[in-house]
Amino acid sequence: AKGEGRNRFKVFNTRMLEDAIRLMDLESALRLALDRGEFFLDYQPILSLSDRSLQGFEALVRWRRPGKGVASPKDFIPVAEDTGLIVPLGLWVLEEACRTMVRWQTDFPQVLAMSMSVNLSAKQLTQPTLVEDVERILRATGLDPHALKLEITETVIMDNPEVSILRLKRLKALGVRLSVDDFGTGYSSLSYLQRFPIDTLKVDRTFVSEIEANENRKIVGAVVALAHSLGLDVVAEGVELEAQSAVLTDFACEAGQGFLFSRPIAREDVERMLDSGG
Ligand code: C2E
Ligand code: CA
Ligand code: CA
Ligand code: CA
Repeated sequence: AKGEGRNRFKVFNTRMLEDAIRLMDLESALRLALDRGEFFLDYQPILSLSDRSLQGFEALVRWRRPGKGVASPKDFIPVAEDTGLIVPLGLWVLEEACRTMVRWQTDFPQVLAMSMSVNLSAKQLTQPTLVEDVERILRATGLDPHALKLEITETVIMDNPEVSILRLKRLKALGVRLSVDDFGTGYSSLSYLQRFPIDTLKVDRTFVSEIEANENRKIVGAVVALAHSLGLDVVAEGVELEAQSAVLTDFACEAGQGFLFSRPIAREDVERMLDSGG
């Protein structure tokens, strides 16, 4: 029994070492990728549900790995988050998205009424320099702060509500707008979120995908109504079907984002769309 124990210990250690090496490999690969400019952004349109006009875009990061195709953020954001690389990567994303937005505003006047949404991760929100970094990037790119929306997930806000509230207030003071991302996946209540200086609620895809079920329909309807009563506007995530869009429109949900309207697309494709009057 003693020998067995030792063996198990050895196996466990080897596995831990392998995991550590894999993580280190991915970490150094991510670091190099940032230096080499292998990241790029796609943009997913966010539409006003009442008339399907463009309300803005969400910037979503991708990693073009030489010889390996394009990696999804689901595969590398968690590692970037664990290793702290999300901080420089997140700042790169923010700057690239702001720069793109300024360019679109210049080339397509209709974009002046739209917003650019950028995701902020947990690690980023805890950075003491976050607010100065955002301010610096806004100044460097010349983007009107009001055109920028920062998305923070419900769970990140709830992890450390006291720090979050201070940081979010300072971000708001810059003039940027704030969205709660993936709402409904955590445990917060809307009345609690009222304490946070937020503008928009993004209802998570899991609710939207099951909206045809009667119970979920009631929940989404109640969330939209309560959000409105708190002065928030609502974006439904992951709208894939006309039937979902119809229910959301009935609830007076302001905006939708999802494959029904558009997948995340390359900058050039957005420009073609704007060029043809979209
Ligand atoms: P998210 O912030 O919830 O972004 C929306 C995700 O839902 C995107 O996946 C988008 O492609 C996907 N999506 C949009 N509409 C639909 C739909 O109708 N059906 C389905 N099935 N999916 C839809 P993506 O681009 O793979 O990003 C996944 C997650 O990675 C994001 O979820 C976000 O949490 C994270 N992420 C992406 N870019 C960044 C970034 O720049 N910074 C940080 N911190 N996280 C990012
Ligand atoms: Ca998001
Ligand atoms: Ca989301
Ligand atoms: Ca989500």
